[in-house]
Amino acid sequence: MAKKKSNLFREMKNIWSQFTTPEINKLEKFSEGYINFLNLCKTERETHDFVLEKAKKNGFVSIEKAKKSDKKLIISNRGRAIALAYLGKKNLREGFRLIGAHIDAPRLDLKQKPFIEEGNMSLLKTHYYGGIKKYQWVSRPLAIHGVIIKENGKKITFQIGEKDNDPVFVIPDLLPHLARKVQYSKTPAEMITGEQLNLICGGKAVEDKDEKKKLIAFVLELLNKEFGIKEEDFISADIEVVPADKAKDVGFDRSFIGGYGHDDRICGYTAFRAIDGLKAPGEYTAIALLVDKEEIGSDGPTGAQSNWIMDITLKLMAHLKIDGNIAILNSIFNKSKALSADVSAGLNPMFKEVHDINNVAISGYGVVISKFTGSGGKYSSNEATAEFTAFVRNLFNKNNVNWQFAELGKVDEGGGGTIAKYVSKWGIDTIDCGPAILGMHSPYEIVSKIDLYESFKAYSAFFK
Ligand code: MN
Ligand code: MN
Repeated sequence: MAKKKSNLFREMKNIWSQFTTPEINKLEKFSEGYINFLNLCKTERETHDFVLEKAKKNGFVSIEKAKKSDKKLIISNRGRAIALAYLGKKNLREGFRLIGAHIDAPRLDLKQKPFIEEGNMSLLKTHYYGGIKKYQWVSRPLAIHGVIIKENGKKITFQIGEKDNDPVFVIPDLLPHLARKVQYSKTPAEMITGEQLNLICGGKAVEDKDEKKKLIAFVLELLNKEFGIKEEDFISADIEVVPADKAKDVGFDRSFIGGYGHDDRICGYTAFRAIDGLKAPGEYTAIALLVDKEEIGSDGPTGAQSNWIMDITLKLMAHLKIDGNIAILNSIFNKSKALSADVSAGLNPMFKEVHDINNVAISGYGVVISKFTGSGGKYSSNEATAEFTAFVRNLFNKNNVNWQFAELGKVDEGGGGTIAKYVSKWGIDTIDCGPAILGMHSPYEIVSKIDLYESFKAYSAFFK
């Protein structure tokens, strides 16, 4: 007699084969919307504006202009971070459900004095933002997105390198023929230095004999004609250099999506879609929090380390005429729950040795729950309690969310943090939860469509 198969194990299966055709159609439609979003929004400001515009269209109102009866509210922070709140059936005093994602991504920023002239070329100097492998950014098409604020406060917004007939910008790598000493003898981190990340921006020169920097002058004249700007205007500017590539389906069967900035705009987008998709108020007040500056430590007024979460809660309390005293505020925080919506590292078949195979995220197995992040003995991590982890596990199981558990890598291999510890410091139970990514922080990151869709399902269940 055959022995009965044990049902004590949690089995992971390829989810594609279990999805019905209508489910796959829904997933493909969601993926299409996400790809479109990725191509429109390559900076935090663009993501902020995208969310603001869509939210307004769908009935959210700025909290400053809201009437007492308004339940769908927008709280914007300097055009770089944005929160949406949907007041729940229960009073805010019973706590809220927050999903926090970051909408900044690793990239190159233009230096404030970017122009140099060398080798009969004009070049733009950059200062990289966040954890990049510098060698990945050379010899590939790059676009420039940004804002310049002129002395009189006038804002100039631009994107160059995205349209089919736009020029792109390139940092030329060294030919292999001459790389033996200056590159091959070095570590990959030193192969391209920060000061070598300069983009070619021009080769034409002005005729003026007295002009010393003839090539820069040519470019500046061009920019002055187009935008009315001069060299000094670059000082008061946020200009980001991002990959010019379009997000696309990956693979014969189109089961993956490749694109720039999945980390963490994938969670920003899915959290936005989850709150925007609520047909009625959830049990608790839902808050989608999209923050800036995570990639450089969550500092500054738009980062998760600021008092913004407190400020948002106080604003909601004022809107609901709840007395804004600290005891009530703390009691709200202590009754609240949060998902730190950020990406995890998926198993890369070419680098299996960095993962603990028993505790690794696998692309296509669904949204990842990480009880803790951090590195070297859970240092610098918010660790969710067993109780809160059980709550989330139960919620996902009840709502048929495909989920998996993972740590970032082998214990001694490295690590990384998220905004979880800055959310939980207010007394909010917080756990990390998001899709697994391949090639994280590279100019072209990969995600499984299943994991994108299951993240959306997980966040929707959390808000409901
Ligand atoms: Mn992230
Ligand atoms: Mn990151």
